[in-house]
Amino acid sequence: MIYRAGFDVGGTNARVHLFDESLTAIGGKRERIRDATGPKEVAKTLATLLADACEEFDVDIADVGSIGLGIAGQLSADGRTVLNAPNLGWRDVDFVESLEEALGDHVEKTPSIRVINDLNAQVWGEHIEGAVEGVEDVLAVYVGTGVGGAILAGGSLVRGADNNAGEIGHSKVVVGGRPCGCGENGCVEAYAGGIHLERRVAEVAHNNDDEALNGLRTDEENHLGVADELALEHPEILEIWEEATDYLAIVIANACTLLNPRALLIGGGVAENCTLFRSMLLQKTIPLILRVARENIEIHQPSLGDFAGMLGAADLAKNS
Ligand SMILES: [Zn+2]
Repeated sequence: MIYRAGFDVGGTNARVHLFDESLTAIGGKRERIRDATGPKEVAKTLATLLADACEEFDVDIADVGSIGLGIAGQLSADGRTVLNAPNLGWRDVDFVESLEEALGDHVEKTPSIRVINDLNAQVWGEHIEGAVEGVEDVLAVYVGTGVGGAILAGGSLVRGADNNAGEIGHSKVVVGGRPCGCGENGCVEAYAGGIHLERRVAEVAHNNDDEALNGLRTDEENHLGVADELALEHPEILEIWEEATDYLAIVIANACTLLNPRALLIGGGVAENCTLFRSMLLQKTIPLILRVARENIEIHQPSLGDFAGMLGAADLAKNS
């Protein structure tokens, strides 16, 4: 029996899931990587995580035939090099080589390994057995810390000439506008990404002594969920939500007009946890799509959570 492994490598945690040949899930494990994010250290952590998962689920690590690694960032077309992963602080890292080296401590012959854009992996997972199962034409937009996208056309992932298709978050909405994490200006992510929204919400909370905003003055997580619940009573927060959803709606609607997807998959922490934000976004987006592309479009939310990325990565690496 040949097994497949799918990883989801984030800036804070790494998760792995093992699958059999027909992609039936066997079991998974996770490990924190926040404190050690150099490529060699992460490779060692992943190799140990895989070895532990194999032991726990009674899989001989020598029988793992392929490994897919979902990583947020821009990757080389051959699936070896991480060109730029801001969450991990990596640039031009041949991560396949690092992982092969680290796996050498656990197994004689290393399996085939491929790095895969995390959103491509997630959307592919949702296409295999999740929210857009079997749907051949999908535009996915994930609004989380940043704004990411992936495109399925005719049942295949659209990768682009340089493997960088789908970077919808870096569509420009203001010429010479706010600086974005990518180093350019005026990207929609600089107006609607979670990092930006949190910064704006914190400014409002600090400049306003209303008791209702107390929950936004701490360092706890889920500020945006709290802000979303308060937005209708707080014009300043609502204004931030209006601006972000205006820009996002234009970008998403134009992409739908261009691509004519059957399904629009809207996910990510902000879009999934902030109910008002999501409904404002959808109410603004739909009418802006050209009628012929709008009439039969279906709106979905991801249904597999973190598992989608590991399933997708395992399958994409298997086919490479
Ligand atoms: Zn950008």
